Amino acid sequence: MAPSLLLLLCALLTAGEVVDAAYEAHVAELTKRHAMAGFHHERSGAFVVLSDDADPARRARHSATVAWFATAMRRMYFEHDPAGLTDIWLFKDKASYETNGAAFFGAGPDSPYGYFSPRHGLVMNIATGGGTLCHELVHAYMRANFPKCPDWLNEGLASLYEQCGQRGDLATGLVNWRLKGLQEAITSRTLPTFEALCTADFYGANSSRNYAQARYLCMHLQETGKLGQLMLEAMRDQATDPTAWKTLVRVLGESDMAAWQRRWEQWAMALKPPR
Ligand SMILES: [Zn+2]
Repeated sequence: MAPSLLLLLCALLTAGEVVDAAYEAHVAELTKRHAMAGFHHERSGAFVVLSDDADPARRARHSATVAWFATAMRRMYFEHDPAGLTDIWLFKDKASYETNGAAFFGAGPDSPYGYFSPRHGLVMNIATGGGTLCHELVHAYMRANFPKCPDWLNEGLASLYEQCGQRGDLATGLVNWRLKGLQEAITSRTLPTFEALCTADFYGANSSRNYAQARYLCMHLQETGKLGQLMLEAMRDQATDPTAWKTLVRVLGESDMAAWQRRWEQWAMALKPPR
């Protein structure tokens, strides 16, 4: 082998060892902290995917979702991956999520699906589906790039990708189970104005209605090609418009938001629920 080729090979191996060493040290640290017998782990870019699912095909599918969706988020909205290595805990079922989740991390938020914690990473019952994985990945990217994102936009974007399709390297949100609650709220005239959605407490008594309204607002912006612009300008203007309400009105180009909301409600009522 020519000396220059040998040097290049050594350099590549050294670089590979550095990357692997960081990953191995990270996993060794996790193993010290948690009873990880039966857990598989794999690195996917900025993430470490950990699962106690014994089925290699399912694990491979979930790792592929992480790789594709992370690429999509970078292409569509976010400049940076989360710093360091972020863990993605995919507990195989409800029992494992509840038992191991509590043993590893203590009591988390009251969600049957999962949650994102800056300290522990993504923690979820993967038996609820890949939608939870995409939802929580949005939160990881949001924290890394837009930590002061208003709740309605953070949850609206995360919820949008609970049901999504792949178009090349991009992700497209599709209609999902939250439509039913939204259409009921529109019919019963209990939906708040968009200004109230953006500026009032999001995680209150009506949080599930707020999630649905924010999700389908984001979906409408996606359908009209304005979601990327909204994200860009909301990040850019966060100091002067922390709720992103003014940014929303400007991106929509509307002077009468009450009239726009009526048109948006007609659009939402015409959507067909998933089968
Ligand atoms: Zn969320």
